[in-house]
Amino acid sequence: MIKVGIPRALLYYQYFPMWKTFFEELGAEVVVSPPTTQAMLASGSSRVVADTCLPVKVFLGHVLSLVGECDYIFIPAIRSVRRKIYNCSKFLGLPDMTKAVIPESPPILDIDIDVNKGKRRLYQAIYQLGRHFTRNPFKVRQAAIAAWQAHLDYKQMMSSHSLTPPQAIERMSGILGAEPEKHCSHSASARSTIAIIGHPYLIYDEHINHRLIHWLEQAGYNVLTPEMLTADELESALVRLVGRAYWTYEDEVVGAGGHYLENKADGVIGVMTFGCGPDSLMMDMVRRQAARLRSTPFMSLTLEEHTAEGGLITRLEAFLDMIARRKRREVCV
Ligand code: SF4
Repeated sequence: MIKVGIPRALLYYQYFPMWKTFFEELGAEVVVSPPTTQAMLASGSSRVVADTCLPVKVFLGHVLSLVGECDYIFIPAIRSVRRKIYNCSKFLGLPDMTKAVIPESPPILDIDIDVNKGKRRLYQAIYQLGRHFTRNPFKVRQAAIAAWQAHLDYKQMMSSHSLTPPQAIERMSGILGAEPEKHCSHSASARSTIAIIGHPYLIYDEHINHRLIHWLEQAGYNVLTPEMLTADELESALVRLVGRAYWTYEDEVVGAGGHYLENKADGVIGVMTFGCGPDSLMMDMVRRQAARLRSTPFMSLTLEEHTAEGGLITRLEAFLDMIARRKRREVCV
């Protein structure tokens, strides 16, 4: 059986169930790299110049961990998934960059996704990808339909059951029970609720964020993330804040930030990475909205390769302490 490697990094958290379904429907076995470790980050960093953004270094570390483990590695070049809304340039050149800096990589399956070029080009690209496994276009079509359905189910599962992507992936893989528990309980509980906004590859990679969600939950907070909102909720918050989106993943930063500043959360934490142009612009919009509304405290955390856990925890504790004092004041008046 052909083995297809998928790095547990960058767009993995958005699309893994869809990709897995597509390849498995075509008879392949999917191999996922293990969770990020310091050794993986160091190996990825060693292949690129220092100012490459942290998530790309992590991604390359995951590719290196798959060398020798699979027949192909799947690295799509995703330019645009919504009309006239574009992805960060790092995603566009990912397959070529990987080939250049990791020559020992297994052959790369590198589909080019750009919806601005029309449906016909998209279908041709999917068919080209499927041809590595079958010459039967009908089989490729069926695999693509099943994959899209898996994607819709995944999104729906996260928003309707308040699950994070790793939790939803586990549910879909049958690792956890069939009946999802609510990830958070912001109805009956008096616990404070903290929303975390940012790209999934930052907020769900426990190595690079020092287990941020786990730490907050252990400290007794309910945690909300962008995937727990519906596409409509994200879109309407985004439109209220900036009008029309320009970046593909503006929803998960600006849309989620705008929504949680107005609803449900006692505090919002924006997670970004050092040296990321799109994130610093988007996070600044959220920061300005928080200053305008003056209703929900906002803090941004900038992660980089050498971010120390101690410093991160100190900042978190100060922020949470401020929220607790604020809540006490509200109870007293
Ligand atoms: S959006 Fe920022 S963090 Fe993400 S790949 Fe692009 S530069 Fe890197």
